[in-house]
Formats: sequence, structure tokens, C-alpha cells
Amino acid sequence: MTDSEPRDFIRQIIQDDIASGKHDGAVVTRFPPEPNGYLHIGHAKSICLNFGVANENNGKTYLRFDDTNPCKESEEYAHAIERDVHWLGFDWGDRLTHASDYFDKLYAAAEQLIEMGKAYVDSLSAEEIREHRGTLTSPGKNSPYRDRSVDENMDLFRRMKKGEFKDGEHVLRAKIDMSSANINMRDPALYRIRHVHHQRSSREWCIYPMYDFAHGLSDAFEGITHSLCTLEFEDHRPLYDWFIDQLEPPHRPRQIEFSRLNLAYTVTSKRKLNQLVTEGYVAGWDDPRMPTIAGLRRRGFPAAAIRDFCSRVGITKKNNMIEMAVLENSVRENLDVAAERRMAVLKPLKVVLTNYPEDREEFMEAQNHPNRPELGVRQLLFTRELYIERDDFMEDAPRKFFRLKPGGEVRLRYGYIIRCDDVIKDDAGEVIELRCSFDEETRSGTGSSDRKVKGTIHWVSARNAVAAEVRLYDRLFTELDPGAQDEYLSLLNPGSLEIVAAVLEAGLGDAKDKPFQFERLGYFCPDDKDSTETRPVFNRVVTLRDSWAKLEKQAMLQKH
Ligand code: ATP
Ligand code: MG
Repeated sequence: MTDSEPRDFIRQIIQDDIASGKHDGAVVTRFPPEPNGYLHIGHAKSICLNFGVANENNGKTYLRFDDTNPCKESEEYAHAIERDVHWLGFDWGDRLTHASDYFDKLYAAAEQLIEMGKAYVDSLSAEEIREHRGTLTSPGKNSPYRDRSVDENMDLFRRMKKGEFKDGEHVLRAKIDMSSANINMRDPALYRIRHVHHQRSSREWCIYPMYDFAHGLSDAFEGITHSLCTLEFEDHRPLYDWFIDQLEPPHRPRQIEFSRLNLAYTVTSKRKLNQLVTEGYVAGWDDPRMPTIAGLRRRGFPAAAIRDFCSRVGITKKNNMIEMAVLENSVRENLDVAAERRMAVLKPLKVVLTNYPEDREEFMEAQNHPNRPELGVRQLLFTRELYIERDDFMEDAPRKFFRLKPGGEVRLRYGYIIRCDDVIKDDAGEVIELRCSFDEETRSGTGSSDRKVKGTIHWVSARNAVAAEVRLYDRLFTELDPGAQDEYLSLLNPGSLEIVAAVLEAGLGDAKDKPFQFERLGYFCPDDKDSTETRPVFNRVVTLRDSWAKLEKQAMLQKH
């Protein structure tokens, strides 16, 4: 990309600002999460944007916790957020801040507004304030307390701070315009009383600034040049500008809004994700079905794939819904190059090679990656008893079925051609074992016969196979936009998790952290949390092909 073609309108604005010497060419951004839940894929978009534009322009990015609502926030969430931002590949250096770092400055700013006659203590109840606010179509009404004198306001506000009043008895409000067309400008609350413990400032405060008051001013205190946020804050911008106009801090941030990321078949509201966790619909914030960064990481999605996805989705002002397939394709592209290949059988069927001696063993050389010889080879044990995939055998097979069928032949990958001679069933008529014979001359690579068969299937030796639990995931919800419905919990996909007892090639028992491709099956990642020494657990990251793309496309077309 050349300097003259920025990727999106925000990068264009920043480039123009640098060119015109605004902010002396500096670019300072921030990512401002509220520590009231784990980060999700939508946050990843904002993180990639804020850290991305700063990195591209020699700028700086703050990680600022918006900890103005102690009732819902916790240090656990704050730590999870730090971990997730780091894991995504971004670093805030020594710029980790909190809105609570500015509580003294914010308090001083509030007193300054009172002094100027631009803020007043209101003693209406929350209910009455709501009634006075008016609606989108009708103006609000002034509070009877709106014309208190500066002295009275100052006295009351200081006593609020000292703890002389109960929660809700008074609030401090900006004095702007109760008939403004923008409801945010109808004397918004600046401070409320909350006698609660704050995760960082403990009990030092019993009044807390409102998000809108703290947010824009924190940007100004930190010298943020470009305050990038989602579209719902567009209507709050005039309020942030009003605070800055009154208080004239040294820095004036410019707020620019962009559209949220919405991902199909999931929800990305922290309230809803919280409900899924606390009510036990999923196994935690890091359940691999969750759209949280922690869940995607545990599932085996590489950070680079998430960054690639965010860059493909791009930055616009238009709200839209992104197909899950777009994210999964980024993951597939990344893992196709990065992941080593292994053999695993998810639904095992035993095969006995009747003409292969019991005590014979040999090793078959297997490539770890088809196009990356530098990743080397490994030796697969071959023995008389093997497992193959149940689906690779069919008793009444159609003519075009080129895998194993009675009397039919198939090649075992890296091994021999085998023929199915006998089918063993249990009393219920279920196939439990195949008796096959192998052709000594057809050993892969070195055999003397050049006989060919149409199908090749994967296998593992029964002698050293590792028994494992494999978790197969599907969409968490059955509908495109579950969050749009009140009854969204009833749209949970009952088939979002299938657990199978699989067998894996030896060596996978000690695998940690990184995903593998199980040949012919998909990408799978060891679950470091639930794996035990004796029983590894693997999560399916994605299948090899996108089985959902068509369905999603249809659903999208119907919707629009
Ligand atoms: P939620 O609505 O899920 O509770 P939030 O917006 O309240 O999320 P914050 O912690 O306040 O969560 O978000 C931190 C930053 O991430 C904000 O700047 C917000 O605009 C941005 N953000 C949140 N959700 C998305 C999303 N889906 N797409 C892009 N950016 C997002
Ligand atoms: Mg928010």
C-alpha cells in the first residue's frame, strides 16, 4: 500500500492530520474497555484499529480501564483483558491507565462547572428525573432544583463527597438545555452517590463520575488525539465537546465513530455473554464456543488469524453482519500454512490384517507438512491391528464409494493397499470389526507394485494409539442474529458441542498449545485446561471445508 491510499476513512483522517501538522503530527489513541466482562471479537476490531493506527504512525496507545461503575467491575476482568490484548499481539508499554486515576481531576472539573454556574445538584429521585427528561419527540422539563445558587450547589456537592447522603438522594447534573433535540444534552448526570467498594480506590470515594463525564475528559487528560469509538457514541459527541468547551483542557481530542462488528450466529453483548456464563449455558468465559478472545484462543484460533480477519472486515460507518465463515476462513488460511499434519481417528472402527503377523512391526515415514519440508517427518507405527474411521467403511456402498466396502480395496495413507474380506458384527447387528488382508508389494513409496486404487484413508495403529476426548463444535446459536430477539436463550443450538472418544497417533498425548491438522478431518488444538496426563482433550478449531457457507448465505439473503 502506498502512502496516498489509506485503507479506510479513519486512516485517511489521521494521514490528513499528520500532513497538516495538527497535534504536531502526533497520533495517540486508546482502547477503553470497561472491566465488567471478558473481551469479545468485536473488541478485537477496536483493539486492532486503535493499536494498528498508532503503530503505523509512530504513535502511542493507552489501555484505559473505564472503571466508573464499581458495582459491575472486577480485577479478574481487568487481568483477563490485559492478557487478551497482549495475546492479540499489542503492547501498551507503560500506558496502562484507569478512569479512576483521574477521580481527583474529574472532581475538580465538576467543582469548576459548579463555580461557573454550569452544574447543579438535583434532589429529584431517579424516577422523577426520568419523567422530567422528556422523550425523543417531546422536550424535557427543568428540575425545580435547577436554579440553586452556586454556593448551595457547592455545599451540597462537597457533602455528597463526604458521605453525608444516601445513594440516590442527590445527583450532580450539567446545566445545558432540557429542550435540546439531543437527549444526551438534557442536563445529563455528572456524579452519583454510590456507597460501594471500588476495586482500585477502595472506599476512598462514595460519589462516582458518570461514564460520559469521565470518558471524554480522560481522553483530554491523556492527550488522546484521535478518540475512536463505535457509532452509538455519535450522539454523545456534542456532550463531550461541551465539557471541553467549558473546561478548556490543554488537549482537545477528536472523536471519530465507526460501526460495530456483528458476527452471525453469536452474540457480542457483554450482558448476554455474562448471562450465558453465570447461568451455565456454557462452561465459562473461555468456553471454546464463546466469541470471546479467551474462548477463541482456547479453541485454537491463532491471534494472527483474528488480526487478519479484523483487517478484512475493515472500518466503515455502515452497520453490518459478518458471516462466521469469514473468520473461519482466516483461521483456515493461517493453519493451512502453520499447522503440522497428524493422523487421528474420531470414530474408530477396528481393522485386523489377517495376513500381517502378530509380532511384526514397521515404521512408515510421514511428512509433517505437505509443502514445508523444513518441518520434517515422523515415523508411524504400523501393526496387524489398526483403527480406521467408521465413516470410511460402508457395507452397502454405492458404486462411487471409493473407500472401504466388503470385497473392496483402499490405500492406507503412507501404508499398504488393503482388501476387506470379512465384516464382524455384534448381536445388535452393528459392525465392530473388519477382517482385511494387505498386499505386501504395495507399500507406499517403496513397494514393487504400481497398482493403484481410487481411495486413500487415514488410520492409527491400535498398539500405540492414544485414547483422547475430542470436542466437535458447531454454531452456538441456530439463528443469524440471536441477540436481536428477547428470547435469545431459546435459540441456543443444542448440538453446539459433540464429544467423541477418538484415537490419536502416538506423540499427540503430550501436545500442548498449538493446533494440528488431523488429516482429512480438520484442525484440532489440545485443550490445556481439561487435558490430563492420561487423557488428552482436543478442541476442533475448524473443519477443512466450510460446510456452513451456503446456509449462511441463504439466511443473509432472506434477511436483506
Ligand atoms: P458491550 O456492548 O458488549 O457490553 P461495550 O461497548 O460496553 O460492549 P466496552 O468495554 O465499553 O464494551 O468497549 C470497549 C471498546 O470496545 C469501546 O470503545 C467500544 O466502542 C469497543 N467495542 C465494543 N464492542 C464492539 C464491537 N462489537 N465492534 C467494535 N468495537 C466494539
Ligand atoms: Mg461501553
